[in-house]
Amino acid sequence: MTLPINAQNVSIVSIEKINKLSGENVKLCMQCGTCTAACPMAEEMDFFPRKVMHLSQFGMLSLMNDINTYWKCASCHSCSVRCPRGIDIAKVMEALRQLVLRTSKNYIEPSQMPAEQISELPQIAMVAGFRKLTS
Ligand code: SF4
Ligand code: SF4
Repeated sequence: MTLPINAQNVSIVSIEKINKLSGENVKLCMQCGTCTAACPMAEEMDFFPRKVMHLSQFGMLSLMNDINTYWKCASCHSCSVRCPRGIDIAKVMEALRQLVLRTSKNYIEPSQMPAEQISELPQIAMVAGFRKLTS
């Protein structure tokens, strides 16, 4: 995905907000890319984890409004255990999800899901998905 950077859509928000929600310090990232290499979901993501960390370091959340990266994140912690700077990237992904969910915006709409799909999905997976993807 190309970064649509211009004066209108770049809004610098407080990096402290991401750090506070995640409990991590995104400024420690040195952009080594180990997180992307370790991520089993990277191929499904609009931006790789390394790029999300880069944008987070600059508080550029508006550039990540419509990407799927933090929704696709499986919270597997594969990146977190390998990060040479000790950053729990999974927690940063969770913080990014929370920032969206706190605006009452859902990633999926349960009421829009077809009945056949709901009947086929394992209930535990569905409940876990709703917890993660809806506000
Ligand atoms: S592994 Fe850690 S230091 Fe390397 S790019 Fe990812 S978050 Fe940054
Ligand atoms: S926690 Fe998320 S970002 Fe990190 S490796 Fe797993 S799926 Fe990828």
